[in-house]
Amino acid sequence: MSDFIFAAQQGRKIPKEDKNFGINNRAKAMAAERGADQVINATLGVLLDDNGKLVVLSSVNEVFQSLKPEEFAEYAPISGTPAFREAVKKDAFGSFIPSRFTEAVATPGGTGAIHSTIANYSDAGDRILLTDWYWGPYSTIAGELGRSVDTFCLFDENRKFYSEDFRRKVEEILAVQERLVIILNTPAHNPTGYSLTDEDWRQVADILNSQPKTKKITLLADVAYLDFAGDGEKYRSFLPILETLDDHILPVISYSLSKSYTMYGMRCGAVICMAPTKEIADEFKSVCEYSARAAWSNCNRSGQMILTKIYEDPQLLARVQEERAGFRDMLLRRGRAFEDAAQKAGLEIVPFDAGFFTSVPCNDPEAAAACLEQEGIFLIPMAKGLRVSVASIPETVCRILPSKILSAIRKAEKKKEK
Ligand code: PLP
Repeated sequence: MSDFIFAAQQGRKIPKEDKNFGINNRAKAMAAERGADQVINATLGVLLDDNGKLVVLSSVNEVFQSLKPEEFAEYAPISGTPAFREAVKKDAFGSFIPSRFTEAVATPGGTGAIHSTIANYSDAGDRILLTDWYWGPYSTIAGELGRSVDTFCLFDENRKFYSEDFRRKVEEILAVQERLVIILNTPAHNPTGYSLTDEDWRQVADILNSQPKTKKITLLADVAYLDFAGDGEKYRSFLPILETLDDHILPVISYSLSKSYTMYGMRCGAVICMAPTKEIADEFKSVCEYSARAAWSNCNRSGQMILTKIYEDPQLLARVQEERAGFRDMLLRRGRAFEDAAQKAGLEIVPFDAGFFTSVPCNDPEAAAACLEQEGIFLIPMAKGLRVSVASIPETVCRILPSKILSAIRKAEKKKEK
């Protein structure tokens, strides 16, 4: 029987409150009651400075403030303005010049790019393949579109990319499906902070190339954290590997300006293909435009204008990159501090490289999170452990947090034994 009142349930179980925002609200309420210094809020994936204020790139803000009404008020074309579509490809590819046929279509953030890819490259009822540690909205998007998700283990027992489990799952699903969408979020994966190495990417390519040519595989690289992982060139070194994929595999990039340009609220991003033929690239543009029209129509024009203006002015681009590098280094220091302190405290964390998050594996994440909350520490319990947002806490806190997490995990385990 449906527990909905009037709306169509469609098999959905909708929580009263978004889990992550709910925990964040409890953290805020405790800070208001006891004082901000009594609370550690490492819940949300937004970059805050050491005083807890949202980081906004001043160079980006200046461009935003300079926009004329006619630049933002008009509708943008459904696929995005032509200049934006060119600028976003340059931003995504950096100095790499693809030899493939590329097309970019504007989307409301990376979320829109994920939606478009699932909607257009999987069939209703299909399983979408994810890593076992994954960003929750992937399954929400898949579910809303009448698809489900399946996972492979990201790490093997040696804490390396578990390519054999990836192969096993790809083969298992392709035995019963004609097409498969795979989402790999890297570099600086949410929630672990892992970045696939070029060797990992080569293994992915080899495994996919060995699948039957009659199947259609779409490999979606969700690079939401690309420009906060480290050196931009180094972290784009996987792009040429995507060009080694055979013609029955379509590489697609989910591109977001939310983090890299601190434009979370502007809802700006793009879905970009690296197609083996012009026909597949043209079709990509056409289907992504069509499903955009059906879902959100066109995207926010101001975000597109901001990126266009930045790419029209090399000095401005250099300023944005320099300013971002300063905050990126702050974030990297926090991640390293957490990693060091975890090692000293004897707390196991998942293999971590960079980014907004890292995670602590544990048996009962909900119980450990509840113990931490009693002490004013707010983290996100996930299926396989606790996610820590180093993006939202200062380096000093990153140094003290691991030992507190370890005590809470032990306390939760003891409670269970009783
Ligand atoms: N992918 C991952 C893994 C994310 O964590 C996020 C944002 O938190 C996104 C994609 C997309 O974000 P947006 O839609 O704001 O661009």
